[in-house]
Amino acid sequence: MEENKVYMPVVSVARSIPLLSKRILLSYKYRFKKKYDFVEKPHYINFITTNDCNSQCVMCDIWTIYKDPKNKPKQKEELTLEDVKKFFINNRDFLSNLKSVGLTGGEAFLRRDIAEVVIAIHELFPKVGLGIQTHGLMPEIVREKVKEIIKQYPNFGLAVSIDGVGDMHAKIRGIKNALEKATQTIRYAKELGVKSITCGMTLTKDNYYQIPEVKKYVEDLGCEFSCFLAESSDYFYNASNAHKALSEEDLNAICELLKPMDYHYFMSNLRLRISGRRRTALPCYSGYMSIVLDPYGNVKPCILRPQGTVGDEDIMGNIKQKSLHEILYNHKSSLLRKKIEKCRCWCQCEVSNSAVIDNVDVVKWFVKSSGKKEFLNKLSQKIYKL
Ligand code: SF4
Ligand code: SF4
Repeated sequence: MEENKVYMPVVSVARSIPLLSKRILLSYKYRFKKKYDFVEKPHYINFITTNDCNSQCVMCDIWTIYKDPKNKPKQKEELTLEDVKKFFINNRDFLSNLKSVGLTGGEAFLRRDIAEVVIAIHELFPKVGLGIQTHGLMPEIVREKVKEIIKQYPNFGLAVSIDGVGDMHAKIRGIKNALEKATQTIRYAKELGVKSITCGMTLTKDNYYQIPEVKKYVEDLGCEFSCFLAESSDYFYNASNAHKALSEEDLNAICELLKPMDYHYFMSNLRLRISGRRRTALPCYSGYMSIVLDPYGNVKPCILRPQGTVGDEDIMGNIKQKSLHEILYNHKSSLLRKKIEKCRCWCQCEVSNSAVIDNVDVVKWFVKSSGKKEFLNKLSQKIYKL
């Protein structure tokens, strides 16, 4: 047993070398194509299934969108199940390189047809990874929907937000007993056999000091921990929330708390980036190989660019009017990609896609990382599970 523990990472990594070499070559091919604006068929879609949300988070105002009477008519314009099916059927050939579709919101489980949406995509693209990001505050609904999904698609993944322990999660989410509800959601998902559950913690001024406690809490539940800074953008409907920004002192404290997570590419680089010790060298493939589909059918490069409720400056096109090929191959989209070419954020849902597309920066980071052993251990556990 002990022997296995020592050799498993080495064996897994040795097995991965031919694959890694191939991926590095592909990374350079993608860099070249990106440089000359040759758009590849999309690998990743982040689908904002709805802007409806019944949480009341302090760091995100999406939940206020449909509370505003001027936005109410927009809710009727959200993509229906039929629209979603039509999109995936009509663009089937152009989506032949698709690797994964992340479904988010708002709160995706507020869509009564969310299970049908997942199953429809799975039936059309059986090899594509699918997962839902949820606030986890409706355990009974999640249980009912996950039960339906998992019967058809056992590899389905879930991401549940946990922003604090004790009363903190309720304070951040603005919902009573939020931690108990999210924990119950995780327990139900585990009972139903969901293999991959990640818990994301959004760091704000109020809760960042709980990073170690939240990490322990979610790992004790058998989930993977991740954390990221609260963002201000039109997507979160809070572009003017500068008052919630973290001070330099907060950021220094976060860096200290992130140190034990140097085995994790995203969190290690978050620390190095906020401490100014490493600039972001990972190219961003948003708008090239990774796209966002908003609830109204608009295609955007990423979630941080303005969305349909706010303006159309960064919208590449709408799937109700054009094919995805037409949307990505046109002058406006080309100009937009030019505009964001030098843009470098560290937003987890976007960075994780770019890091899988282009592994060069991950390898460079790994060579210098102090968390190599644990990184390899975690990698081998993942490979072992596959
Ligand atoms: S962070 Fe998620 S759960 Fe919270 S308001 Fe925004 S969309 Fe809703
Ligand atoms: S760097 Fe970030 S904000 Fe800029 S285009 Fe890429 S994902 Fe969007």
